[in-house]
Amino acid sequence: MGLHPWQYVTEDEVKKTQAQIHDYLKKQKVALENPAPPKAKPVRLCRACNQPLNALADCSKHSLEMRNYKTEFDLGCNWPQRLSAATAEEFRLEERERELLTVAESLKGKRDDGSRDKLVRILGLDFRSKITEQITHQDGLLDVVRNRLTEIRAAMPRLVRSAEAYLLEEKQVPSEGLIFSQRKRDEKAARILQ
Ligand SMILES: [Zn+2]
Repeated sequence: MGLHPWQYVTEDEVKKTQAQIHDYLKKQKVALENPAPPKAKPVRLCRACNQPLNALADCSKHSLEMRNYKTEFDLGCNWPQRLSAATAEEFRLEERERELLTVAESLKGKRDDGSRDKLVRILGLDFRSKITEQITHQDGLLDVVRNRLTEIRAAMPRLVRSAEAYLLEEKQVPSEGLIFSQRKRDEKAARILQ
């Protein structure tokens, strides 16, 4: 029997790798605790007059440009909504995980086939592949729930940042009231130019 790969590695190398992993995890933790503040998008400017679209201007195209910007923003991804959907899904899955664990616990002592089948459905099954001789795990319901939870939790920091950025931009998007006021101004400008 040959050496296990682990035995080729010197103790120093092991220590180095462990230190790297430790550093990495520490950084990850800091990154999660202090997510970078969202960058506010620069205020959108009118293509006709080059003035900000979140303020009135003496420009006959301004209300149209405001409307286009507002439509574009409203049709884009609503990140706060997506974040709250992910949070709700995470909560549901955590509940499901607890349920499955409770049922699995109650089935563990039982010897009948029905209980054993249910337990396998929940916990999955480790079996030795006849071809590769490797132990393979077949996912049970608990694995499915936990895999999805891992996905959601990994996506969470990005969702939070996107939602924060969305809320910052939302403040800059012209309101219906502002667009209405600007439209009156556009008409006035057009009348004067006639
Ligand atoms: Zn303008």
